Amino acid sequence: MWVKALDIVLDRLVVQGADLSTVTAISGSAQQHGSLYWSQYGIQKLKNLDPDKFLHLQIDDSAFTVTRTPIWMDGTTENQCLEMETAIGGASEMVRITGSKCYPRFTGPQIRKIYQQRTHAYEDTKRISLVSSFLASIFLGNIAPIDYADASGMNLFDIDTKTWSKPCLNSCAPDLEERLGQPVATNSIIGNVSNFFVQRFGMPANCKVAAFTGDNPSALSGMVVEKNWLVMSLGTSDTVMMNLQNNPELEKGHVLCHPIETDQFMGLLCFRNGSLVRDALKRVDANDNWSNFSELLNSTPRGNYGNMALHFHSLEIIPNAKGNLRWNKNHSSASPDADKGLTKFGSPQAEIRALIEGQMLHRRAIATDMGFNFGEETKIIATGGASVNKAILQVMSDVFNAPVYVQKHSEAALLGAAYRAKYALYLHTSKVNAQKKAAVTWGPPESYQHYILQYIPSHLQRMCAPSKDSQDIYEPMLARYREMARILEDSTA
Ligand code: ADP
Repeated sequence: MWVKALDIVLDRLVVQGADLSTVTAISGSAQQHGSLYWSQYGIQKLKNLDPDKFLHLQIDDSAFTVTRTPIWMDGTTENQCLEMETAIGGASEMVRITGSKCYPRFTGPQIRKIYQQRTHAYEDTKRISLVSSFLASIFLGNIAPIDYADASGMNLFDIDTKTWSKPCLNSCAPDLEERLGQPVATNSIIGNVSNFFVQRFGMPANCKVAAFTGDNPSALSGMVVEKNWLVMSLGTSDTVMMNLQNNPELEKGHVLCHPIETDQFMGLLCFRNGSLVRDALKRVDANDNWSNFSELLNSTPRGNYGNMALHFHSLEIIPNAKGNLRWNKNHSSASPDADKGLTKFGSPQAEIRALIEGQMLHRRAIATDMGFNFGEETKIIATGGASVNKAILQVMSDVFNAPVYVQKHSEAALLGAAYRAKYALYLHTSKVNAQKKAAVTWGPPESYQHYILQYIPSHLQRMCAPSKDSQDIYEPMLARYREMARILEDSTA
């Protein structure tokens, strides 16, 4: 299906008149965690693609040892997670090595399940690709290496040493390293496009293929953010991404190798209770209408007269808590009804503001725990469905005490792939020139941000600035939020 999709995309590009002979480098972004299992026959096919035929007629089911392959939505490997963590000495050891505890959707537990349940298929597998490196393989006409950032979503990769972790590999399946191959830095060139693309689509024979990566790291590269930026996606669930200098070893967050800065990390936090909760309160308190919702939010002062709420309609990831808790200005952890709070506030205005302030305080507290340094330089990029709502962005700006921006273009993950292709080609050319001493004034290459921003000077639009009293209002509320979260977590346990 994926190969056929690629046939269709390429044909549509041609039909629309795209001149593929001008493409000098290509990279890509694909859903994280999914895996594909190549047969020996498949690899031979890949290396000898016939330009007169569609890809999907050549790379068909026989190219793989497993044809129904796991994607990120598969949650059936709880047992394998437990086995892998137990084998290496516990969840905290898994976090220390790989940046994440074992998650059922992660590739390692998925590979282990295939090894256990379809042992012959595993034994017949010559190479395993992630979805990203699979797509790169098609362009390369050979098995493409897995990149550091996407390798970080497998529970197999040591994010500090940037090598496969022997204990993790051993806990997963035998002879795995040879099936995974040598990983590479995300911004590296891995070869030229294969003859198939030259003959069939007129791409230049020296068109470079840069490593492909997962959608989240690709989105971070598409935002072109520096270390003081926090990316906040307000989608069905909310996601926060950030640059980190160190692996914070936070049990329930994800730390990945940074897609651009090889010596840095990328922090990724997911919040289950995002838009679905905002949708639910919009229905109940705002007549199911976003402009009413915004009006209610704007008609209450910052701090909401001491009314605060946490809404975890489904079990939240951090903290491990479920339920609602509403406090008014008199509540504290010493109150006899601290764990019950109020059933409802007195007005829909108070409800809506307490919801959004509570969500933002929650995101801020967890990002701080992950190791993000909030300060005067902090800036936020908001994306996702709710980022069109200015009233929500203003609360975000106030709670984080930082200006909030939106991108002028959508599809950050896709843009990230294009930017990385351009930057990887630039790094590659600089290196080749330096080796040939061809460059007259050779110096260290420009940073990714500097290099890319010259092509997209104003890709961001500033939406809100924090109010002057933000710090004074929200610092104390952050401490109160932590008390409420602890109480809700205790009552969930
Ligand atoms: P996904 O994570 O599925 O890609 P989106 O990023 O498209 O989701 O976000 C969808 C959500 O955006 C909807 O659930 C809705 O709650 C929210 N949304 C859409 N318009 C608004 C708005 N004007 N104000 C607040 N939220 C909005």
